[in-house]
Amino acid sequence: MHKTVRKLGPRKRIALIAHDHKKLDMIDWVNYNKVTLAKHELFATGTTGKLIEEALDRPVHKFLSGPLGGDQQIGSKIATGEIDIMIFFWDPMEAQPHDTDVKALLRLCVVYNIPMACDRATADFIITSPFMSEAYEAAIPDYANYLKRPIKAEENPPATH
Ligand code: PGA
Repeated sequence: MHKTVRKLGPRKRIALIAHDHKKLDMIDWVNYNKVTLAKHELFATGTTGKLIEEALDRPVHKFLSGPLGGDQQIGSKIATGEIDIMIFFWDPMEAQPHDTDVKALLRLCVVYNIPMACDRATADFIITSPFMSEAYEAAIPDYANYLKRPIKAEENPPATH
């Protein structure tokens, strides 16, 4: 498969999401990294975004609350190349009503080679990376061949009653 690149500028577009039992952890993390985060553009699901705005006293692009479609909205932004990094503190100890949306979002990060932290240690490594303040070229697979794949009629017989 051919490779293509997504060019990231020094100012990154960061998506922040935290499940309810991880929200305090997220607020603590954004406060600790306030100075670095000030150089970047922040996006978040509804409730997480509101808490971050209050904590940092700065605007955050807020989507719907996660279970009401916010995760899918962020996934859509990833698919259209409008999010560069995702920090998602999801709760491994509690089933979520929108588990399928969570899984879909994690999958899209891999599809588009988005740096993704699902815990605080990984988030620390990402936020302290020299690439945070530099331009960076992220290799992404070229899905052109996939889009041109043949769809064989015999594999798709018409539905019968
Ligand atoms: P919330 O959504 O920030 O609106 O609580 C988080 C989530 O995806 O569950």
